[in-house]
Amino acid sequence: MKVVVIGGGASGLIAAITLKELGSDVTLIERNPKLGRKILATGNGRCNFMNIDATEYQYNHPYFVKPVFEQMSPEKTLHYFENLGVTARIEDLGKAYPFSEQASSIVDVLVYEIERLGIPVIFDAKVTQLTKPYDFEITLENGTSLHADRVILATGGKAMPRSGSDGLGYTLAQSFGHKITTLFPALTKLELDSPHLKQIDGVKIQGTVELLQYGQVLQVEKGDVLFTKYGISGPTILQLSRKANELLSLEQEAEVKVILVEHLDRRELAKRFLTLEHKTAYFSLVGLVHKKLILPLLSDANINPDSQVKDVPKPQINRLIHLLYDWRFKITGSKDFDDAQVTAGGIEINDVNPQTLESKLVSGLFFCGEILDIDGICGGYNLQWAWSSGYVAAKFAAREKKN
Ligand SMILES: Cc1cc2nc3c(=O)[nH]c(=O)nc-3n(C[C@H](O)[C@H](O)[C@H](O)COP(=O)(O)OP(=O)(O)OC[C@H]3O[C@@H](n4cnc5c(N)ncnc54)[C@H](O)[C@@H]3O)c2cc1C
Repeated sequence: MKVVVIGGGASGLIAAITLKELGSDVTLIERNPKLGRKILATGNGRCNFMNIDATEYQYNHPYFVKPVFEQMSPEKTLHYFENLGVTARIEDLGKAYPFSEQASSIVDVLVYEIERLGIPVIFDAKVTQLTKPYDFEITLENGTSLHADRVILATGGKAMPRSGSDGLGYTLAQSFGHKITTLFPALTKLELDSPHLKQIDGVKIQGTVELLQYGQVLQVEKGDVLFTKYGISGPTILQLSRKANELLSLEQEAEVKVILVEHLDRRELAKRFLTLEHKTAYFSLVGLVHKKLILPLLSDANINPDSQVKDVPKPQINRLIHLLYDWRFKITGSKDFDDAQVTAGGIEINDVNPQTLESKLVSGLFFCGEILDIDGICGGYNLQWAWSSGYVAAKFAAREKKN
């Protein structure tokens, strides 16, 4: 069985290795001069390569992920990498990193396997056309072509296009009639509409953020929040960004609510302003919130920072207290694919068999990784999907007989 894997990223690497181990005659095609370029950038260079607690419920289409995880579970993935020599360091919420703290370790052990197994890799080879007159014909940008009985399309999504995944894979799938769902960046920074952004740029807080749709809470995240000159960032925001962008793509209103003092009792806070009533409004907040946030908060509460607290009308003090628990910002957009970690949307999964990851439209064509309309939350879930789906696609691409 001759199988060509298009794309030497996370899912394509594990697919190629698995195919070879199962006895297929496999060739890997990668447009870059090296394999696994995006992996090097993951986890801030440490590569949060999987999540030991991952289940199908942390993904947008659990029913599609479930049969894949049943065949290649997070536990099995952990053993897979242990066998390759990667000892995992498990951090909070099940996030696994290589003990070496180097993303390059993950690439190195996979490339070692590719070389050890003698898998031919065609580098600097961008696939520009894929057809199936009889068997598959794979045409490269330089005009040459090769043939295969099976093809695994592992070309990734559109996130971080400079790594090689610029969405060309979607076009290849579309040429066979596959539909692509709406694509938008996920796990990215959000842009806000606020007059205060310049002032609060760089402020990092530990807080709670909520995503609101027309005032209804859709998602809550706790942890680091970073204000920037364009809006808001940090791990909490990356988690909210998928849903926020989904709302924006549907032209729905989306807001982020920042809770600055969640753990403080409201009555205690009211008492604070009584105790500090001889201070200016500005100084009444020093020691409670980051200094750069004080003037914006007072401005939104319509309080003159130089007024003594005792002279500020009660409704304005109440408004200030309210803002400390509920500071809202309108979300206007997000950073684009250049800055996003993941693509939301992709190949319509109804046209793909979730047991085998084979196309329902073209026999012998398989998909794995981010090219499919599957994305997970932040924390090792997207690479987990790449490994699990790459393994499963390969298992069936190797097994099935030529039609
Ligand atoms: C900055 C950043 C940090 C991230 N951190 C994490 C993390 O810590 N944990 C986590 O789980 N996920 C993380 N992710 C997400 C994760 O890296 C991806 O979901 C995963 O790499 C997707 O794997 P893939 O194999 O589907 O695609 P990719 O890894 O994108 O690989 C696709 C490959 O196909 C090649 N290719 C594309 N088109 C063609 C073509 N036409 N011809 C030939 N070759 C082609 C590309 O060059 C590329 O090498 C991060 C992403 C980014 C951008």
